[in-house]
Amino acid sequence: MSEGIKTFRDLQQEVIDRGLCGKCGGCVSFCSAGRLHALEMGEDDLPRFADEENCLKCGICYMICPVTGELDAEVRRRFGWKPPIGNYEMIRSARATDEAVRRVATDGGVVTSLLLCMLDTHLIDGAIVSQKTSVFGRAPVIATTREDLLSAAGSHFGGSAHLEELGDQYTTYSPTISAVKGLEQRHLRRVAMVGTPCQVRSVKKMQALGILPAHIITYTIGLFCMENFVFEAVGRHRLEERLQIDLSDIDKLNVKEDMIITLRDGRTIHVPFDQLDDVARPACLACTDFANEYADLSAGGLGSPKGYTTILTRTERGSGIYSRALSQGYIEEMPLGEWAAMRAAEDRMGAEVIAFAERKRARGEARLIELRSEGGTDRE
Ligand SMILES: Cc1cc2nc3c(=O)[nH]c(=O)nc-3n(C[C@H](O)[C@H](O)[C@H](O)COP(=O)(O)OP(=O)(O)OC[C@H]3O[C@@H](n4cnc5c(N)ncnc54)[C@H](O)[C@@H]3O)c2cc1C
Ligand code: SF4
Ligand code: SF4
Repeated sequence: MSEGIKTFRDLQQEVIDRGLCGKCGGCVSFCSAGRLHALEMGEDDLPRFADEENCLKCGICYMICPVTGELDAEVRRRFGWKPPIGNYEMIRSARATDEAVRRVATDGGVVTSLLLCMLDTHLIDGAIVSQKTSVFGRAPVIATTREDLLSAAGSHFGGSAHLEELGDQYTTYSPTISAVKGLEQRHLRRVAMVGTPCQVRSVKKMQALGILPAHIITYTIGLFCMENFVFEAVGRHRLEERLQIDLSDIDKLNVKEDMIITLRDGRTIHVPFDQLDDVARPACLACTDFANEYADLSAGGLGSPKGYTTILTRTERGSGIYSRALSQGYIEEMPLGEWAAMRAAEDRMGAEVIAFAERKRARGEARLIELRSEGGTDRE
């Protein structure tokens, strides 16, 4: 392969050795030398060489990694990105009309409703979503039915498994990108993907490079994301002490302007992000995208009252799905009154999202500067 291409060695130095790897598995899953078994995920869920001799030095792993700045300019250009939070056409507060969806949803159930609408009206054959696997754990699945979608909605943690039973480390992060590879075996033609900003960014990079089967992902619904969490022993105990709770007693975990913990006894606790550094994934503290700037639609709780989802339509495709779900009665908007009141509400919501996005960008950039001064990532 040609000189000057960054390879897995660079990924190791700039991303993995610096603690910035998000463990998405993309580099291993989409390694050009996959059949030659050049890369593998280690027991610590970090990628590593299985056999360096087999590495083709093509640089795909480096290019699609969401942490490197590689291809960012190309993705931005394709997407018509503009500051401060990427392109968006509309911002609204909405919720599912179906009570069964609202009952299980994280916020207003808009994400699940949009997917149901797309499935029912044959815009998609399936969707990559993340189903609960354990107390906090999520795993990606390809949902093809209403039941699949409903079982992936929400952020309630059913069951009462003791956290110790799960071992020393468990995370809210779902390795969605690994499910993209699984599309090959499923004979699906058009699939939606729900993901965090890093996951949507990876898919957009794959699409920019023409990596198959990323082309099957025809719609991306991006979640706002301040951070994901990893509850390893020390951080967890510190958090439990600070909050005076047992994490096993958590019934629901939501993230909006802070972390909202609902306990089984009905109590609700709000924990500001700056008190969560012990349990934030290290990679997340250097991440700069809050509002999922490259998705067709972005969704979060921030900016909306309880029981509603804030939704940004970013592309023609995204606006089309939103209008379809609204006109076919899958979702309803929060009544805001006259046009002027609606504009004022839009401005307020937009300002809140921008403020959080800027806060996250500043945090991520500060961390990246620290890492660069230690000889870390080249990312701008
Ligand atoms: C890790 C994470 C961090 C978030 N941070 C914020 C934040 O800081 N501020 C904010 O306002 N909103 C945040 N959100 C978004 C918010 O929690 C809701 O997901 C969003 O408002 C949509 O609500 P809904 O009721 O419309 O979604 P629902 O209809 O309940 O659907 C939720 C969808 O999210 C998928 N999902 C659940 N967990 C994960 C996961 N770990 N990884 C990938 N997909 C998943 C489900 O499969 C489902 O398709 C975050 C979400 C996640 C998963
Ligand atoms: S973040 Fe993902 S693509 Fe990047 S090194 Fe880690 S596992 Fe590989
Ligand atoms: S903060 Fe969210 S988008 Fe950024 S690396 Fe963590 S999970 Fe991904």
